[in-house]
Amino acid sequence: MVKTWTSGDGDDETCEKCGSIYSVIIHRLPARDSDSFTCEICGEILRKWNDTRVPSFTLKMAGEKLP
Ligand SMILES: [Zn+2]
Repeated sequence: MVKTWTSGDGDDETCEKCGSIYSVIIHRLPARDSDSFTCEICGEILRKWNDTRVPSFTLKMAGEKLP
């Protein structure tokens, strides 16, 4: 499943599982990077990428941790 998003800065990502809000900044790398980001609160995979544009996540607001 490929999810597209607008490149650039100032995008927010909300974890659908626990409601945590992350500030997302897209970085451009000289080489392709394949990685993923998991929610720091609940462990849900928020985003996967295999691109030269990779997101950097900063937790803005922690959501409820589910059992
Ligand atoms: Zn979460």
